[in-house]
Amino acid sequence: MSSGERKNPGGQRKAVFLDRDGVINKKLPEDQYVSRPAEFELLPEVLEAVGIFHNLGFAIVVVTNQRGIARGMMTFDDLDAVHKFMKTLFKDAGLRIDGLYYCPHDKTDYCYCRKPSPGMILEAAKDLNIDLNSSFMVGDSESDMKAGRNAGVRSVLISPLPDPMGADLVFRSLFAFAEFLQDRQPTRKNNLGKRKG
Ligand SMILES: [Mg+2]
Ligand SMILES: [Zn+2]
Repeated sequence: MSSGERKNPGGQRKAVFLDRDGVINKKLPEDQYVSRPAEFELLPEVLEAVGIFHNLGFAIVVVTNQRGIARGMMTFDDLDAVHKFMKTLFKDAGLRIDGLYYCPHDKTDYCYCRKPSPGMILEAAKDLNIDLNSSFMVGDSESDMKAGRNAGVRSVLISPLPDPMGADLVFRSLFAFAEFLQDRQPTRKNNLGKRKG
């Protein structure tokens, strides 16, 4: 670890929690579910954004509601095939997904995992020793923002619209958020030489 790097309490990691549909891959029309790899289409510059998150030391955790399973519109095997494909796309780009959590339940199941509940985020935090205070939940819907708030992480909305839906931060794309984090980092230039006058 370089001397300039701030250490998190208890050696915990910081994470970027990513919603899947509408953040990583193109969302299908309402009531349709990505149930085959052929339907999984990465959004522009997602891999570049994840590369920046890696460089900044963030773990990458995907947290996704997939009630198409509860509704009988896809099987667990279908979803696993899609996720295997997604992981391959990341791996081929030299990237990794540190954790992947999904909720297969329906709204009426009142489970603890379906966003806006914080269940998936809290479970990942426990599994991966994540410091929630230095982490972000990135999504494209209000339930993502609420899940982030319920879990105690900062919420980041990816949206072309001005309505922040209660988010702490709003960006047009995942890449724009990654650039924001990168720019916010104390640079080596700042550490090495503060120019006077
Ligand atoms: Mg979404
Ligand atoms: Zn659930």
